[in-house]
Amino acid sequence: MSDWIARAGQDPALMNDFATLCGFGGRLAGSGQEDAAMDWALERLRETGGTVSRVNVPYDGWRCLDARLQLLQGDAAGVMAGAAAGDSGAALACKPLLRSLSTPEGGLVGEVLDLGIGRLDDFDRAGDTVRGKIVLVRHEYPFSPTHMHRRRKYDLAVARGAIGFLIANPLPDKGLLSGSSGRARGGPGIPAAYIDFEAGERIAAACAAGRARVRLVIDGEELPDALAGVGILDLPGRTDDRIVISAHMDGHDLGQSALDNATGVVVALAAARALAPRVSDRTHGLRICFFSAEEWALAGSARYLGGLSVEELGHLKLDINLDTVAGDDSLTALISDFPELEGFVANSAALSGVPVATYLPLMPNSDHANFAAHGIPAMRLLAGFDRPDSRVNNILSPGDVPSVVREAELRQSVKVTCAMAWQGLTMSGPELDAMQRRTA
Ligand SMILES: [Zn+2]
Repeated sequence: MSDWIARAGQDPALMNDFATLCGFGGRLAGSGQEDAAMDWALERLRETGGTVSRVNVPYDGWRCLDARLQLLQGDAAGVMAGAAAGDSGAALACKPLLRSLSTPEGGLVGEVLDLGIGRLDDFDRAGDTVRGKIVLVRHEYPFSPTHMHRRRKYDLAVARGAIGFLIANPLPDKGLLSGSSGRARGGPGIPAAYIDFEAGERIAAACAAGRARVRLVIDGEELPDALAGVGILDLPGRTDDRIVISAHMDGHDLGQSALDNATGVVVALAAARALAPRVSDRTHGLRICFFSAEEWALAGSARYLGGLSVEELGHLKLDINLDTVAGDDSLTALISDFPELEGFVANSAALSGVPVATYLPLMPNSDHANFAAHGIPAMRLLAGFDRPDSRVNNILSPGDVPSVVREAELRQSVKVTCAMAWQGLTMSGPELDAMQRRTA
């Protein structure tokens, strides 16, 4: 390993940055916490040299004003009477998906259909009985080759005629989860919420007994002028070409978004400090991009990249996206159907002395997917791939706090990121362009 990469892994400011960033809170876009954190991160970048800037891009902002869920008692007739009276039933914890459709005045009352995990098979088996029901499905650990993402389950529920969507945490004692519905402003959709494991069990038991009716109240408000910050550090090299390191600043409000994604931001800051003095007239340029509204169906990076000219996009030669880069000691690069990145990652792993696996199929679960959509070779560095029992399983939950992250995990990610960026910065133009080959 190069001495400077080993030294980068010992960055003395890393853990202080991590504590400071987590101290801003969960950094939900629109809360103000993500803006304050962005300002802080840009101050940190200013200390490394280069040109620091911030642009703001519009996104479909939204906030939750009220959310309640009741498991109603009695038979159908009694349920309706209880629903009218508003006082019958057990209150259960719930957390609306971001941008959920609001329920009608008085809430949505309906029968729940338990679809188990909620895969395509489960929906197919239920057939037309889905129509008019509130469906119950289970969240899955999002980083595995076989999982089905929340938004795909939600989209299936909408397509099959469900009137509501409940998605339960599969883990006991882990509380609620957060996530986005992906519904566009003014777009079609159904009321949708996360529930905790225990609420899922109670509703499932009621379903098994043939009397599962719930009342769901979701009152959300559109924020028409919402803006997502994009923080940028630009370090020019010999050419106009840029190697990009990206990480999202925003998160969710149940925990402190320590894993997802304070880890990525502070590793990017440390890598910027180590790389800045090495960007020169013998290398390409380096750009650090911090995005917001990633948790809103990747809206911030989509709008930023969508606003660049074809020429500007053509100069972005590689995106190294850091998202949840600690929480387990295993690292994987999700290489987005760019097969040449396999060798690139192997070389970077050798250079850093840290093993890094690769996974070829595109996983559109972070900002790298928007770079890939523009034909830019893009990967996501991730800890805990296919390890559902790792500490990474605290993401999106109240358990996403600094104590689930180990210092050694952050430090090895700094080394890998430096090795990846350095390899990109020193490749020839034709070598960089060769990485654009795509399998899918
Ligand atoms: Zn993330």
